[in-house]
Formats: sequence, structure tokens, C-alpha cells
Amino acid sequence: MSSAILLRNGIALLHDNEDHVHATKTDILVEGGTITRIEPNISAPQGAEVIDCTDKIISPGFVDTHHHLWQTQLRAKFGDEVLVDYMLKGMMQGSNFTASDVFWGQLGGCMEAVDAGTTTVVDHPHMTYSPEHAENAISATVTAGIRSIFCYCITMRVSCWEPLQLNGNFLEPWMFEQLAGLGSRAPFGPNGRVQLGLAFDGWFLPKEMITDLFQRARDAGVKLVTTHYCRGPQSPGSSLVEQIDNFGLLDSRFLISHATGGTPKDASLVRKAGVHISSTPSTEMQMALGRVACFDDTLKEMAPQCSLGVDLHTNNSAYIPGEMRLALQNARSEFNQKLYDEGKAPRRTHKTVEQAFNLGTIMGARACKMGDQIGSLAVGKKADVVVFDAATPGMVCCENDPVAAIVLSSSIRDVEIVIVDGVIRKRDGKLLPVTADEAARGQTGEKELRWREIADSILRSQREILGRIEKIDFEAARKDVLQRFHVDEKNIIEV
Ligand SMILES: [Zn+2]
Repeated sequence: MSSAILLRNGIALLHDNEDHVHATKTDILVEGGTITRIEPNISAPQGAEVIDCTDKIISPGFVDTHHHLWQTQLRAKFGDEVLVDYMLKGMMQGSNFTASDVFWGQLGGCMEAVDAGTTTVVDHPHMTYSPEHAENAISATVTAGIRSIFCYCITMRVSCWEPLQLNGNFLEPWMFEQLAGLGSRAPFGPNGRVQLGLAFDGWFLPKEMITDLFQRARDAGVKLVTTHYCRGPQSPGSSLVEQIDNFGLLDSRFLISHATGGTPKDASLVRKAGVHISSTPSTEMQMALGRVACFDDTLKEMAPQCSLGVDLHTNNSAYIPGEMRLALQNARSEFNQKLYDEGKAPRRTHKTVEQAFNLGTIMGARACKMGDQIGSLAVGKKADVVVFDAATPGMVCCENDPVAAIVLSSSIRDVEIVIVDGVIRKRDGKLLPVTADEAARGQTGEKELRWREIADSILRSQREILGRIEKIDFEAARKDVLQRFHVDEKNIIEV
């Protein structure tokens, strides 16, 4: 239950109207899930929990705008691999997850995000092999206590691995039924913390089928639609942004992940339609998806609509400041090298830590279409807050510039307290037990779950999944996938 919390005497990172961040010594009062006062010397209301924030930094909770939360059991399976390998060993492994496996994987992914200070996430759950898979994922998300936009995902599904066969019915009647049913029940969890969105990557389908699906999503009350777009030798094709626009569907509901390989025309369409972008630097840099779009000056028209995502916590840290750091320093490296090639050097750095910080806070909130509710510390906004210990070895002396310290040198260890919707989810650097959602009790059997017990269940599930996966001939499946996606193998070179 959320009750009053007074954060006393911390250094709060407060955004002004131009998105500049000011480190300000103050108290913050949280009541009923909302920030009600930000000022010094607030008297604690009766019954309020007072937390001494001396030597602590109070930050808005981080917003992660692209994440596949269900895949925890697949961690570290594709650390040296590119997009096609990940698709086989990650994305398509939904076929080897039972609905129960999805519950534990999703709970693990959500709790890892909370541990890392993420308070809101846009979830792209590409594992909808049955109605129970989606129901369990929602139940796990509610149980974890994170704020989420659960984007009901209609995805390609493997029906056989040897030889590889995909289910011919991309859209099935039960999916329409479930989408409508979820729409009538959404939002989910206390205070409607888990909202319903749509995730869709089936752009090869006939236009009529797609427009019909989008109308159904609209009827279900969906306010956010997310899709992948990365264009290059591993995923050839014309501009997805132009295709969506040609279908008459490009509007401000869209949140496009990656946009690597996008064009200036794409950026212009994105800007005009009010579409948002999620860059996920770790996967984009590793899996050869192309240049990270959020700081790509050839796409600068869409820069005000960019944000950051983790994409794969199975492969990358779930820590959004880590993605801020990668995006920023990668952009600087590219910029500097261009000057070096001309025999020149920059007088000052390219881009700022404040710009990077905003990508994972206020701009992420706007990408979720929730800019007026989350993403900054302000009176009237939801109480999604991260408190950093400013006296750890990695943070001591950070008061010189706390934003720079968070972006460049902090780690998850420094995240001492995480508050989502006015409820403390992490305290003293440790995740608190979670209360199983009513619908989750069939999975959990317990009302209250501690992280160690959850980890044991995830490990049990992982052993079963790996037993199924080890029989797959990935080399044969890889050739098949390259053909299906019209990848010219001559363009994929050994290095
Ligand atoms: Zn993704």
C-alpha cells in the first residue's frame, strides 16, 4: 500500500521548463502515490515515513522504452552474436517457453528493472504462443510492482524446429478475442499501473489485415503501438516509416524501436507525426544494427522525440544510465573521429550528460505518452523516484555534478531506494519481497515472494527450457531464416 513518505534533506534533480536539470537541496513529500510537495523543511504528516536523504541524490525514476521482459532464462546466450543469431536463440525461443516459464522469466525481468531504478517500462513481449502466455506475463508484471505499458504482441511463432516452420496463421481469432478482452479489463494492478499497448512487427501482411488490426487495437483503447525498425544488410527492405505513413497509420501513438538505418525523410515524418523513437545502444552496437539513432545528427529532426531502452536484459545490463553512457560516449567517439580524419580536434565535447540523462527520464516519459505524469520530479506527478547513495566509492563527491555522476560513473549498487507509484520496492540497496497478484497464485502458491525464492523458480524453469533448446540445429535454422528475411548471404561476411 502506498502511504506518505517524506524524503528529507536530499539533493533532488529537478527539471525546469526547458528540460534543464537543477540539483537542488530540498525535501520531497509523497502522498497516495503522488508527489505533493517539493520544498525545504516540510513538516512530516502524521504517520508518514521519514527517510533521511542527507548525502543522497534524488532522481526521477528511469524510463525504459523498449524491453523484452520475458526472456530472463536465456541470459548470456548471445553475447558474441549478431541479429540473426539472436532472433533464433532469443526471440524465437518463445516456442520453448511454457506459460509458466513466461511468468517466471517476466517476473525476473521486471524485478531486475526495478532493482536498476527503472520505474516505467514499455514491454514488447514477443512470446504470445497462447492466451495464457500473455495473461501470465501481465500477472508477473503486476506482481513485480513496476509501471508498464504491456504491448500485447502479435508475433511470428515457430511451429516446428526441424525443419524450421512458422505458423502460417500470423493473426488468429483468439488473438483478436484476447486483445478485446484485455482492452475491457485494462489497466491492470493497483492504480492501473500496467496499461495495455500493442506490439506489432507483421508489416509483410496485406494492408487490409493491418488496418483492421489497428482499428481493433483502437477499439480496445490502445494508446501506444510499438514496432521494431532496423534497416540494413541483416534486415533489408524499404523504409518502414514510409510504409506505415502510406498505410495512413503513422500517428503519435507510435513508438519505434531502433530506427537504425533510418533516413532524413523518416526523421521528418517521425517529427511531423509526433512518433517517438527508442534507441537501445547496447544491442544496436553489438548486433550490427547500424548507428545509434538518438544522437545521430543525420536524423536530428527527430532528436526531440528520442528515448532509451534496454531491449535485452538477457544480454545487457538493465541499467538505463548505462545506456545513457553508451549512447553519449559512442556519439562523441564518432564525432571526434570525423574531426581527426580532417586533422582537427573539438574545442568541447559533443552532446552533454544532461541530454543523455533526459533521454532516460523526461524524454522517455514523453515516448510513453506520459510526459505529464512521470519522467521528472514535480508536484502533481506520480511518485516514481530513485534515491542514490552519494557516499559509495563510485558516487562520493558527486555533488560537483550529480547528473554527470549518474550518467558516467554510477552503477546499480548505488541505487539505494526505488519508489514506484509511492510504494518502496527497493530499500537499503535490496529488492523488497513482492505480493503475488491474485491471478499469479496458481504459479507462486505464496502470497509474498522473496527474490531468492523467485530466483530458484527461474533457475528450475531455465533447466527445463535449456533441455528443449539443446535439440535444435541452429545452423540449419539460420540458413532458413536468412532466406525468409531475404537476406543476401553475400553481404554477411566472416570477420
Ligand atoms: Zn527489441
